[in-house]
Amino acid sequence: TKLASIPKENFLFGPSPVQYLPNLTTALGGQVKVYAKREDCNSGLAYGGNKVRKLEYLVADAKLKGCDTLVSVGGVQSNHTRAVTATAVASGMTAVTVQEKWVPIDPPLYAETGNILLSRIMGGDVRLNQEDFDIGHKAATEQAFKDVEARGGKPYYIPAGASDHELGGLGFTNLVVELAEQEAAQGIYFDTLVVCSVTGSSHAGLIVGAVAEGKGRKVIGIDASGKVEATRTQVTRIARNTAKLLDPELVIKDEDVILDDRFNAGIYGIPDEQTIKAIEMAARTDSMITDPVYEGKSMAGMIELIKEGTIKPGSNVLYIHLGGQPALNAYSSYFPHN
Ligand code: PLP
Repeated sequence: TKLASIPKENFLFGPSPVQYLPNLTTALGGQVKVYAKREDCNSGLAYGGNKVRKLEYLVADAKLKGCDTLVSVGGVQSNHTRAVTATAVASGMTAVTVQEKWVPIDPPLYAETGNILLSRIMGGDVRLNQEDFDIGHKAATEQAFKDVEARGGKPYYIPAGASDHELGGLGFTNLVVELAEQEAAQGIYFDTLVVCSVTGSSHAGLIVGAVAEGKGRKVIGIDASGKVEATRTQVTRIARNTAKLLDPELVIKDEDVILDDRFNAGIYGIPDEQTIKAIEMAARTDSMITDPVYEGKSMAGMIELIKEGTIKPGSNVLYIHLGGQPALNAYSSYFPHN
């Protein structure tokens, strides 16, 4: 297929594990078998996560274009900019990341711990852009670009979340190919995939993979952006562009894009009670750790979809765990204790 011919780096350990979650399955009634695809354990590069899988394609492209510096942008506790820094360093490149105040909170050590700490330890050029928030990320990233060029480097721009990029969807389309092989080996089939959606290319890539397979596999996106219509538009656009790149005949219909807006706590980056309860449930059943920004919200979504019967008894559901645990350190105040 076309996908196998597109250049990529190898940043992952191999196929990420598909893990059965017996205690969570039982806690949710036992009728739906709950498994997780552990993208949070996919790589040895600075804790891995979904961005590392996407960046296999973007970094290969950067190398082919002769670039030596990755330039990207995210929030202060961005997993993405940590992954950009990690893949740059491991590839012998450097990274400049603009870290913006996307979340209107400032809990203890927010700009000192978690993801941003990891980027600093790896030697990334981390630029906090909190004062200049009003000028938006365009000016700050343009400045980063100019700085790289001024010192004789060749920058490669990676948009937020490695999403709105012609190669952004490929990593998660490839995940579906990988999953089909794992299913064949394990004698199981997942009729439903549940995935967190924010910048959209994880969700979009899965949709393209599922539609291309033609088995009727359902991909349910759980919005964590708090801006559901903008996210739906972005997911749809990325899915269609990715499909076109791989197979001009492949049609992504509007109804292929399912985005549930009930679990985003109304805002990006801040958990609500439902988020915290879901984090605790996964942690207190199968010791699976999720974060307050992304996976806690998609976990809350999967729990409710099973409870309400949207995910039917008798089905096997696969929770796509996209990573994100490093941010937990910056959110300790959301878990009060005596
Ligand atoms: N989960 C984690 C841990 C993330 O870092 C991200 C990044 O935005 C997401 C989910 C959402 O994925 P995407 O941006 O591809 O929609």
